[in-house]
Amino acid sequence: MDRRTFLKTSGTASLWRFCPHRLLASPASQRVRPSDPGWPSETAWKRLNDAVGGNLIPVDFPLSTCLSSSQNADCRALFVELKNPYYIGDSPGLTQTLGWVDAWATKPSVYAVAARNAHDVAAAVNFARKHNLRLVVKGGGHSYQGTSNAPDSLLIWTRHMHDVTIHDFVPQGCQSTHSPQRAVTVGSGAIWMQAYDAVTTKAGAYVQGGGCTTVGVAGLIQSGGFGSFSKHYGMAAAGLLEAEVVTADGKVRIANACTNPDLFWALKGGGGGTFGVVSKLTLRLRDLPEFAGGANFTIKASSDDAYHRLIRHFIGFYRDALFNDHWGEQAHLSPGNRLEISMVHLGLDTEQSRKIWQPFLDWLTRSAGNYTIESEPVIGSLPFRRWWDVDWRREHHHDVFKVDSRQGAKAGDVWWKGDSGQAGWVVWGFESLWMPASLLEDHSQEKLADALFAASRFSRLELHFNKGLAGAPAEAIEAAKDTAMNPAVCGAFALAIVADGQGPAYPGISGHQPNIVQGRKRADVVHKCMNKLRAVASNGGAYVSESNFFEPAFQHSYWGDNSARLAEIKKKYDPEGLFFVHNGVGSEQWSADGFTRL
Ligand SMILES: Cc1cc2nc3c(=O)[nH]c(=O)nc-3n(C[C@H](O)[C@H](O)[C@H](O)COP(=O)(O)OP(=O)(O)OC[C@H]3O[C@@H](n4cnc5c(N)ncnc54)[C@H](O)[C@@H]3O)c2cc1C
Repeated sequence: MDRRTFLKTSGTASLWRFCPHRLLASPASQRVRPSDPGWPSETAWKRLNDAVGGNLIPVDFPLSTCLSSSQNADCRALFVELKNPYYIGDSPGLTQTLGWVDAWATKPSVYAVAARNAHDVAAAVNFARKHNLRLVVKGGGHSYQGTSNAPDSLLIWTRHMHDVTIHDFVPQGCQSTHSPQRAVTVGSGAIWMQAYDAVTTKAGAYVQGGGCTTVGVAGLIQSGGFGSFSKHYGMAAAGLLEAEVVTADGKVRIANACTNPDLFWALKGGGGGTFGVVSKLTLRLRDLPEFAGGANFTIKASSDDAYHRLIRHFIGFYRDALFNDHWGEQAHLSPGNRLEISMVHLGLDTEQSRKIWQPFLDWLTRSAGNYTIESEPVIGSLPFRRWWDVDWRREHHHDVFKVDSRQGAKAGDVWWKGDSGQAGWVVWGFESLWMPASLLEDHSQEKLADALFAASRFSRLELHFNKGLAGAPAEAIEAAKDTAMNPAVCGAFALAIVADGQGPAYPGISGHQPNIVQGRKRADVVHKCMNKLRAVASNGGAYVSESNFFEPAFQHSYWGDNSARLAEIKKKYDPEGLFFVHNGVGSEQWSADGFTRL
């Protein structure tokens, strides 16, 4: 008796629609694990290894050396290395964030294809589809939400595909509509430092990428992506001209404005690990302005009242003097009544940038007694071409980078000191919210100051001005509208971020355990802090790459009205859901671990 006849004759057919699908899962809706009979045989794995030129590797888990004892020399050395993003990036079994309390902890795949080209990627995709495996893709490994690791999976590891080529470029199929333009083609495993070194330091041009030098190019572009100068150049994804991508059917496709334009649009902010595996990206190049620079200092207010006045005054000053495409990066507010300015500018020389800040500094001087400048203002410029030039920075005593000090490391393998805290950390809480520019209008500034002050009673919060596009040139805003990102980004003056964590840490390692009690408490504080801002920015939405693992109604938060179109494109290119990531497009059809279709 087949299953349908049995249901009919036993009178249970009417119960069918009430039955939890999970209980009735057919084998195809359950991916296989190494302990399952369906796991590929040694011979099958050997065939895959042959197909990828011997680049199938068993994935080592460096942290296992600490699980028996954290006192051995290997474990102590490992915890030093876990502060080095290059060490982490070179280890297929590790991720930049090691976990998130009550959400996930990094776990290695069983095997990885250390892909060298699209052919290797396609072989891995076909193998995973045929054998019903959980597939995961890792580039720079910087996902906060753990979307580039999964236990019992096959990993496509793109780290070795990092060629960078500058050329005149016309997207395939666009010959009749597009003139050649200067562009850079980057292997999808490249990190931004590799792109900046080739494009800016060596070739004197500009490519819009991320702020953090060790973030992966492909991961950042697929989530939208902002860099320090995005208030002028716009979203990184908006600079994508073409991607080479392997879709779930194993085909190597080209996606650009003329060929597979729907897939192209989805790759621009629809989230990584969802629509296919990108093997190569071509990005638009721009001219470099002569100067870039920054303004850095910290002010402490002597009382809560003085702090509220400081916030109120800074909002007015920001709106009048800084709310334009010259100024990006951050201001931080904190319970200690501190305002920390950590901003960058482009296109201004030292004199111009100091002149802009002078009225604010004068106001502080006039209010002496209420405010202490804890770190003296450093406001100035440098030749933009030297922004990521490690040798130049060293020669000029700019102590801004940390260096990969492992034997054999390249001299240019560096990361901003300010990003160090996040290497190997465990997240306690992390939330983001786009802050609408309407809050900067005269009649709303008091309301915004109240909300920022109230939020700062809970936790340190960051306003990332370069991650909201209000104030950017019209061209940058138009280009952002042609991406999958939540359109709220176009009307926001900043992305507010509140986050907390500890590290390096990992569950089960004595002396390095994540502090669950403290973590839960701090997650609650992060949430309460952000709720004070939500009270004045209720429709803000959150940035997919920098947001809460537990984001409610994530589809709307991340993509707004674009989420329905993304769901259609997902169905078209990946109807069986081969590509799964936590809170990705279509992920609601799968169990949390991506193994069981719901
Ligand atoms: C310290 C730090 C600083 C950051 N700074 C910024 C910043 O300045 N601006 C900003 O916008 N964001 C920033 N982010 C967020 C970052 O952009 C995202 O986490 C981004 O997705 C990371 O990409 P990745 O390749 O490094 O990470 P991964 O974890 O390797 O990948 C992220 C996601 O993309 C997928 N993916 C990776 N490569 C491919 C590929 N080739 N094809 C298909 N899918 C792929 C992965 O499966 C995963 O789902 C930062 C994150 C960290 C940890």
